[in-house]
Amino acid sequence: MCGKVILVGAGPGDPGLLTWKGKMALEQADVVVYDRLVSPAVLDMIPPGARRINVGKEAACHPVPQERINEILLEQARAGHRVVRLKGGDPFVFGRGGEELELLARSGVDFEEIPGVTSAIAAPAYAGIPVTHRDYASSLHIITGHARAGKDLEINFPALVQAGGTLVFLMGVGALPRITAGLMEAGMDGATPAALVENGTLPVQRRCVATLATLTQRSAEMEIRSPAVIVVGEVCTLSDAFCWVEKQPLHGRRILVTRPRDRAGALSEKLRDLGAEVWEYPCIETVPLVPCPDMEAALSNLKAYEWLVFTSPAGVEVFGNQMRTLGWDGRNLAGIRLAALGPGTARALSALGLRTDYMPAVYDAAHLGQGLPARGRVLILRAAQGSPALTETLARRTIAYDDIAVYRTVLPAGPDTVLAQALEEGAVSAVTFTSASTVRGFLRAVGTRADLSRITALCIGQQTAAEARSHGLRAEVAREATPEALAELARVCCQNI
Ligand code: SAH
Repeated sequence: MCGKVILVGAGPGDPGLLTWKGKMALEQADVVVYDRLVSPAVLDMIPPGARRINVGKEAACHPVPQERINEILLEQARAGHRVVRLKGGDPFVFGRGGEELELLARSGVDFEEIPGVTSAIAAPAYAGIPVTHRDYASSLHIITGHARAGKDLEINFPALVQAGGTLVFLMGVGALPRITAGLMEAGMDGATPAALVENGTLPVQRRCVATLATLTQRSAEMEIRSPAVIVVGEVCTLSDAFCWVEKQPLHGRRILVTRPRDRAGALSEKLRDLGAEVWEYPCIETVPLVPCPDMEAALSNLKAYEWLVFTSPAGVEVFGNQMRTLGWDGRNLAGIRLAALGPGTARALSALGLRTDYMPAVYDAAHLGQGLPARGRVLILRAAQGSPALTETLARRTIAYDDIAVYRTVLPAGPDTVLAQALEEGAVSAVTFTSASTVRGFLRAVGTRADLSRITALCIGQQTAAEARSHGLRAEVAREATPEALAELARVCCQNI
C-alpha cells in the first residue's frame, strides 16, 4: 500500500513555534526528510525509530538537487512509509513546497500540507517589530532577495516603494547593498527605519536596527550572516522598546542540562522560559534491572514491610512495570505506606494512582532517612549504588530495611571532544546537575584534561554539590530540589556571568 507525504512547516527555530498538528505528524513519521534550516531542537522531536534523511541546502550549493528531493519523497511514499517533509518556517513561503508537491500530485500519491510559522513574521516579532501597525503600516510585502543563478535580482523596486507598507526580504543578506540601493534609487527616503534579524527566534538571535542608508554598513560592522531577514519600514522604530527577547534574564546564556533526556523536559522548559539556550546533554542513562529477583521476592512478601520508599521517578517506573506484570493495582498495596524523596517522585507515584504518605521537607536522602516515621521494616527500591546517606541514617535509628537495586545508571563511555571544546571556548555559561551520578557522568564526558575552574555547577541539592566540589567544580545549590528552584538558581547565578 502506498504511504503518504506530509509537508510540515517546522517554524523559524524556537521549538515552541512548531504547530501542534506538525508535532503530531512528526511523532507518527516513519521517515523524516529535512532541511538545513530546521532547528536541532525540532529534530530532537523525531521519534527514535524514524529514518532521518538530511537534504540540507546551503545558499550557493545544493547537496541534494530539488529533483532528487522530489524523487526521494515519491520513493519513500511508494515504499508504504508515512513521510514527513520538514521545512524551515512555512513550506510555501519561499520554501519550494509547491515544487515538491507537483511530482506527488502527478503520481497520485496522497499528501497533506501543515503550514508553519514563517520567519518573515516571527523573526521581526522576536526582535520587537510588529510587521503591521495601524499607525505605521497597512500592508506587508514578503520578497525574496535571492537571484536565480547567473541572473539579476528580479525586484520591482518602484512598485514596492509606491505600495508603502512594511517590506520583509528573505534570503537577502548577500544582496543587502543592492536591495537598499534599489529602494533608494526608486525614491525611498534613506532615513526610513530598517533592521536585520539574524537567527530569529533562536537563543543566539541578534538584531541590527538602523536606517535604509546605514543598514549595509551597520550589518557589516556586526558581521550579520544568513539566515537573517531584512525589514524596511516605520515599524522598525518600535524594536528598541518592544524587544522582549533581550529583556529575558537568561538571554544569550547557554546552559547544559545533564539529566537523562526523558526526564529533562521540565527543567529545560523552565530554562527556556527564562530565555536560555538549553543544550540537552544526557550524562547518565537509567537501565532497569530485568529480571530483578530481589524485587520479586520482596514484593511477594510485601506484608513484611511497613514502608515502601522511592528516591526517584526511575525507581517508581520500574515498580509500576512490575505491578503491571503482576496484574496488581492499588489494592495489592493495602496497609503499606509510601514515601517519596521529592515532588518528582511523588508525581510519578500519583501517575500510578498512588498517594505519597511521607516526603521530607528537604528533598535529599539524608533527610528522608532522618524523617521517615517508621517503626516496622522498610523496603527501598532505587538505583544500584544509591546514596549511602539514606541507609546510614536508617541504621543509626535502628530501623530495619532492605535496599534493593531496581535499575542502574550508565555513564558515557568516554570523553566527547565536542563537549570538551565547547567548555574550553566558554560556550557554556553553566551546567545543571540533578544527582551525584550526573556529575560523574559529566566528568566522564569532558575527560580528565578539561579545565573545570571556570564552570559553574548548578546543583539540585547538597549531596550533588558535594560530589561536584570533590572534583574541583564551583558549585551552587538550589533552594530546594525541584526543577523550578534549579532554574531560579540559574537565573540568579548566570545573570552575573
Ligand atoms: N520557508 C521559510 C523561508 C525559507 S527561505 C520561512 O517561511 O521562514 C530562507 C530564508 O528565510 C533565509 O535566507 C532567511 O532570510 C529566512 N530565515 C529562515 N529562518 C530564519 C531565522 N530563524 N531567522 C531569520 N531569518 C530566517
